[in-house]
Amino acid sequence: MSLSPRARIHLDHITANWRTIAACTPGSEPGAVVKANAYGHGAGRVARALRDAGCRTFFVAYVEEGLALREAVGADPDIFVFNGAGRDDRAAVGAARLVPVINSLPALSEWLAGEEQAPYAVHIDTGMNRLGIRPDDVPALVEAARRAPPVHVMSHLVDSDQPDHPLNARQCEQFARLSAPFEGARKSLANTGGCYLGGAYGMDVTRPGIGLYGGGPVPPAHVTLLPGMTLEAPILTVQHVQAGEAAGYGAEWTFDTPRRLATVALGYGDGFPRSASNRGYASLGGHRCPIVGRVSMDLITIDVTTAGPLAKPGAFAQFIGPEVPLEDQAKRAGTVGYELVTGLGHRVRRIYE
Ligand SMILES: *Cc1c(COP(=O)(O)O)cnc(C)c1O
Repeated sequence: MSLSPRARIHLDHITANWRTIAACTPGSEPGAVVKANAYGHGAGRVARALRDAGCRTFFVAYVEEGLALREAVGADPDIFVFNGAGRDDRAAVGAARLVPVINSLPALSEWLAGEEQAPYAVHIDTGMNRLGIRPDDVPALVEAARRAPPVHVMSHLVDSDQPDHPLNARQCEQFARLSAPFEGARKSLANTGGCYLGGAYGMDVTRPGIGLYGGGPVPPAHVTLLPGMTLEAPILTVQHVQAGEAAGYGAEWTFDTPRRLATVALGYGDGFPRSASNRGYASLGGHRCPIVGRVSMDLITIDVTTAGPLAKPGAFAQFIGPEVPLEDQAKRAGTVGYELVTGLGHRVRRIYE
């Protein structure tokens, strides 16, 4: 039996979530964002499952991710690279038929100066002030792109996790207006939260990421997502402690009654955040077992007093999954589901179901 943490990846849940989210924007083609190793779930396996479910358009952030993804999904699907491509990437991008997203006028000039005219996309910034061509520069973009227009034009929502935020509608209208001159291009705006807004936000193609993996903003009432992974850690030892004893580095947590503790193989060396110390929890067969003391590099101690015989060496405690919602655990660690799943390291074995 292995004594290391594992993440059981539920490919069937991920494809089900993809369909569920797609149903929020009928008439739009649902894409899938698989950057950062499909948010820690394994980009190759996830993308192949989504391709087999009918997904034709994938998004990654870096050229290197796109090259690996092309190997995984074969020649057919479109692959967009959010952060664009450098001069040195040009040959590889062309050979792998990746479509870089151009994020500034200088980058566009550089791309168009290349010998061969390869397809490209453009990002128009409608309020993030992060990446993309500014609204004021769109006339110059239209002019520069006349000879070789983009195949895809996108923008990104600032506040889609707050459905009532007025910025959503403003961005949607502004993007529709700014992207109108690019008649031959397909348009995309909606990340997961944008898909939940439905209607006009769907545009031609959608770009859901975190929702595919079961996390992200609270979905509308009619949407139920399934967990993309179950993160589990094996119990190494179980012991009893007396009132007055403490657990872990710094002896931060002192017990006022006798408790039963289990120590599991998982820690910040696996990307499980140290900020979950004394705040996060695990589940053993539905019994909630609080993390007691500090998360260390390879070990976490949990209070298994209520779990009875389920707490024994070799049993696996769940840290993300059906009994421990990703966003709940993340919140206790002072972060978001995005960071928690993308941070999980190589020592966490991914097991595909
Ligand atoms: C990461 C990303 C997405 C996906 O966002 P989620 O909130 O994970 O759905 C969509 N578009 C762009 C430009 C992104 O960077």
